[in-house]
Amino acid sequence: MANKQKRFILTENEIPTAWYNIVADMKNKPMLPLHPGTRKPVTVEDMAHIFTLEASKQELNQTDAWIEIPEAVREQYKNYRCTPLVRATELEKALDTPAHIYFKNESVSPVGSHKLNSALPQAYYAKKEGIESLTTETGAGQWGTALSYAGKAFGVDIKVYMVKVSFQQKPYRRSIMQTFGANVIASPSDTTKAGRAILAKDPDYTGSLGTAISEAIELALETPNCRYALGSVLSHVSLHQTIIGLEAEKQMEMAGEYPDIVIGCFGGGSNFSGIAFPFMRHSLLEGKQTRFIAAEPASCPKLTRGQFHMDFGDEAGYTPLLPMYTLGHNFKPAAIHAGGLRYHGAGVTVSQLLKDGLMEAVDIKQLDTFKAAQLFAQTEGIVPAPESSHAICAAINEALKCKEEGKQKTILFNLSGHGLIDMTAYDQYLSGTMTNFELTQEEIDANIAELKKIIN
Ligand SMILES: *Cc1c(COP(=O)(O)O)cnc(C)c1O
Repeated sequence: MANKQKRFILTENEIPTAWYNIVADMKNKPMLPLHPGTRKPVTVEDMAHIFTLEASKQELNQTDAWIEIPEAVREQYKNYRCTPLVRATELEKALDTPAHIYFKNESVSPVGSHKLNSALPQAYYAKKEGIESLTTETGAGQWGTALSYAGKAFGVDIKVYMVKVSFQQKPYRRSIMQTFGANVIASPSDTTKAGRAILAKDPDYTGSLGTAISEAIELALETPNCRYALGSVLSHVSLHQTIIGLEAEKQMEMAGEYPDIVIGCFGGGSNFSGIAFPFMRHSLLEGKQTRFIAAEPASCPKLTRGQFHMDFGDEAGYTPLLPMYTLGHNFKPAAIHAGGLRYHGAGVTVSQLLKDGLMEAVDIKQLDTFKAAQLFAQTEGIVPAPESSHAICAAINEALKCKEEGKQKTILFNLSGHGLIDMTAYDQYLSGTMTNFELTQEEIDANIAELKKIIN
């Protein structure tokens, strides 16, 4: 029987000592990424031109289920981990649902999101390998903020390409990155070939993660002793994020429950993987029956309406070709406020799991996410990030289904971040001027047809 406890807290000593690499336990391994030039499977050496060596090794590791967390990274994790698991008792009451709803609160990290879980190890590996600077992209500003913090923590210089629409909508994220000492540039910019090419085609283009990634990779390739760090999509990022689910597993045990449904919002897949993979391990190894739901924006629906195809991770085509669910790397996502979810593709591990039916996906409209966010704020007292609100909305939908069917299920979702720096978005919602962005099947088909012309 579950008790009525509100928060489930672990001590510093209980911070996990290893991340979980789900690929080792998957029957169907994800296909290997292909080198963009030779179209042969990439090697660790290929990857290490762009990423740190350790991240490259982790990316292609399909055999070790557990990867040790370096002691220096665990020390840094102590600044905010373990994060609380919270029973959303007030939300349950408001919904009048028999469901038990829990959330893992990653918004308590110093940068306000889960992103720091991977930024810290990536900056640590850079320092250890003698790399002096890291470049990266950022959408909503969350990843850029996390890497700026981590760069400062380990003594690595950080240069961030920030998607222009966010640079304009979220000036305070830029100030936070600069406060941590990073150099921030609005993307597309005229500082790279990739940026200049896109601006030449469309001078008013407000940018996308795909474009910003191209710019950051180009700079890393052309600067001595510099590497690139990615905040989502790739398997090593998901690996680092499994610390979320590993803690949650222990905390659910404290609560005396095991989730029937695990939910995360979905941009490139890192926070979803983080909360889901440790639980999915029991589905893979012990046949446990759990539903895993990725909640993506209706205006950027790669999982629910995209295709499984080889595609680039970035707009200009610098990254390896990744086997993934995608809308095509030329897809231009609408300017929704959940900037961190404006990405055309999904990670290769998640893509394989979706293909194999081990998880599901739902798409959610912008207005519905803010309605859910407001209810969550009014009940649980936390203003959620627009990204996280997709997970909240999906959790509410499942809890309402439980009510309809008179079933008591246990729902766990990841609160990937808070929205305290996203109040312009809330203003728009509260003033009634926010809109949904409709995306027609023709638009999706046209974009995928274009992709198939480039990559066959
Ligand atoms: C970046 C971000 C996301 C989306 O990225 P994933 O890699 O899919 O997790 C979700 N929520 C928040 C708060 C973010 O900053």
